[in-house]
Order: sequence, then structure tokens, then C-alpha cells
Amino acid sequence: MKKIVIRSGKERSLERRHPWVFESSIARGAADSGETVRVESSEGQFLCWAAFSPQSQIRLRAWSFDEAERIDSAFFARRIARALALRARLPVASDSIRLIHGEADGLPGLVVDRYADTLVAQFLSSGVERWKAQIIEHLMAATGLSRLYERSDAQVRELEGLALQTGWLRGEGSTAVTISEHQWRLTLDVAEGHKTGYYLDQRDNRKRFADAVQHYGCKTVLNCYSYTGGFSVGALAGGAEQVISVDSSGPALARAQAHVALNGFDPARHQALDADVNATLRGFLKEGRQFDAIVLDPPKFAPTAAHAERAARAYKDINRLALRLLAPGGLLFTFSCSGGISPDLFHKIVAGAGLDAQVDGFILERVGATPDHPQTICFPEGEYLKGLLILKS
Ligand code: SAH
Repeated sequence: MKKIVIRSGKERSLERRHPWVFESSIARGAADSGETVRVESSEGQFLCWAAFSPQSQIRLRAWSFDEAERIDSAFFARRIARALALRARLPVASDSIRLIHGEADGLPGLVVDRYADTLVAQFLSSGVERWKAQIIEHLMAATGLSRLYERSDAQVRELEGLALQTGWLRGEGSTAVTISEHQWRLTLDVAEGHKTGYYLDQRDNRKRFADAVQHYGCKTVLNCYSYTGGFSVGALAGGAEQVISVDSSGPALARAQAHVALNGFDPARHQALDADVNATLRGFLKEGRQFDAIVLDPPKFAPTAAHAERAARAYKDINRLALRLLAPGGLLFTFSCSGGISPDLFHKIVAGAGLDAQVDGFILERVGATPDHPQTICFPEGEYLKGLLILKS
């Protein structure tokens, strides 16, 4: 077993069970891509077992902080069983759920979503790539399912020096899936949808939105960055009379439109707008339009803290426009899924947007991702999605 020695003074984060070690913290040692290494302090003290990634800035990802643990096939079976046991206890109003959420489940770089009877996996680090065959076996055995599609086409794989890969790993056939979420039915394509096909992390927020639209009696709703219209279906279920979904993806909007009819709502209550959100908000303001509720769920403007400043301006801009477009007493459900923007910073950005728009409001709820995308105490980077439900004064 190869040994990696951490620079003196840089072992603290591993001692606090943070799973990453950056290239700059390594004193000596090297290994192959994904190879398991023993990580020690400069004094020779055991710190963790980890996967080595020769190309990534994140050079080590810890598998285990227990010296007695062996990183073998059975280790992956145990971690997968642990992740599934947690999911079995969570309240999930859907047949679709994130089963493995990377670092939070002790499997850095592995994402597995279940959509009805189909599993979709992303192998995003060299460590899980190396153990892929064993992971696949254990996933199929633990879930009892027969279909597993690979969506290892996220750009982060390139940082690991891994080629992008997609396709059936187990089973075959149509990649179209229909799922149920709350009382709704939604469709997706595991081969073509964003990420693994759908945004499961917003499941509970879609229901919150449906309930708020109903409670506050919102009639006109603007769903910005709608993707396939999850929040739009929620708005219709909550009794909205007119809902507009705005997205720059034509295929996503076609699905949003189909979801309206699939859930038994009159298609005349929904409009799909293939457009840039920022330009749309400006255009509506010029026309003097108003909405009773607006959702802002943009893509990741700041993947890391280094992008935070420019991203902050982009977030502020759309929030300022949306706050102005809202009717008095209207609802804004605004999100950021950027890991580089903390909940505190996001609140400050929205506060700045309110000042510029000369609009104040009450924060009704602060929300995050669904619990099947868990955060752990030792890995603050795991927190990415945050949202504020605001009632305009
Ligand atoms: N709210 C959605 C998820 C949104 S993901 C849900 O509940 O499922 C972000 C979406 O923003 C993607 O669908 C992407 O196509 C869209 N998008 C990205 N940039 C955009 C832009 N400038 N204008 C409009 N849509 C954009």
C-alpha cells in the first residue's frame, strides 16, 4: 500500500474528518489514478485511507478515518447499505430519490439517483471510477433493480482526468421514465435530461410553493428557469390561473407543457416561453406586467467561491427585477444552488436587491435541498442549495 505524507500543519482538516486534501497540502508520495493510499501526518501518524487522484487539485478523497477498516469490495457494500438505510427512514413523497450523495454518504464523487425502477449513476472521481464494477454489483443487489444508466458526463470528470461516459451499465431499453412526486406525475429522460435527468433536490420546495400559492391565493405565476416545469405544476395544483414557465431549453419547455396536460390541468392556463430570464424580466417590467408569485431557480452562477463576486451581481440583478415585478403582497421563491455562495451571502444579496428595488418583504421560510441530498457536520462544502420564500410587503 502506498503512503502519502501530509505537510506538517496541514493535517488539521483530516483530523476534523473533512474528506478532501488539496495538492498543496501533500509533502510526499504518489499513486495511480483512484488507487487506495494510506495517509499519514509528518510524524507518521495514521490519518485516513483515501483515493489518490493524480490530476485533480483535490488530490485525495478520504474513504475512511478508521485505521482498522479495509477498503475492499465489502467496504463499498457497507457504505451503500448505510446510505440506503438512511433513505428508507427519510420522509420522501416520491418514487424517485437520491440514493447516494457523494461525500455525505462516505462515497466521494458518487451520485446515484433512483427514478421509479431505473437507477442513474455519476462516477465523478477517480476513486469511484476505480471501484466501478464492485459499486455496480452492490447497487443492483442492494436495490433489487435491474436497470442502471451511467451519466458520467459532468465536466468535473475532466478535472479528474477521466473521459466522459454515458450509457446502460445494466439493463437496456427506453431511457424515458415517468415518476411520481407528491400527487403529480412527471416525465424525464435519463439519457438527455440535465444532470441525471431531473432536479430531485427541489422536490419539497415544489410542494411548499404549491401550498403557498394556494394559501396566499396567487393567481398569476412566473416560473423562471423552469426546466421541465416542476414548480409550474405546483403552481397550477395550488390554484394559479395563469402560469408562465421561462427557460432557455426548448426540450425542457416542451416537457413542461406536456406536464400540464399529464396532470389534468387545462393547457390554456400555462404558457412556455423559450427565452433568457433576465431579458424576459426586463421586458415584462417595461410592459408594466405584474405577477402574484415568482420563482427564481437559476443554474449555478458560482461553482466555487472564486466566482462569487460576479455571481453575486447576477443573482442581485434577477432578484431586483423580480421584486419589482411582484404585485404588493406577492410571493418570491428565490434560490441559489452555487456552492460558492453561502446562505448568509445569499441573504445579503437578496437584501441588496430589495434596497435597489425599494421593496421590502418578510422572509417566510429559509429552505435547502431535500434530505435525500444530506449534509454532514464535517463537510460544509456539501451545502449548496438555499432558498428564501419571501412575502413582498
Ligand atoms: N426549477 C427547475 C430546475 C432549474 S435548473 C426544477 O424545479 O426542475 C436551471 C434551468 O435554467 C435549466 O433548465 C436551464 O435550461 C435554465 N437556464 C439557464 N440559463 C438560463 C437563462 N439565461 N435564461 C433562461 N433559462 C436558463
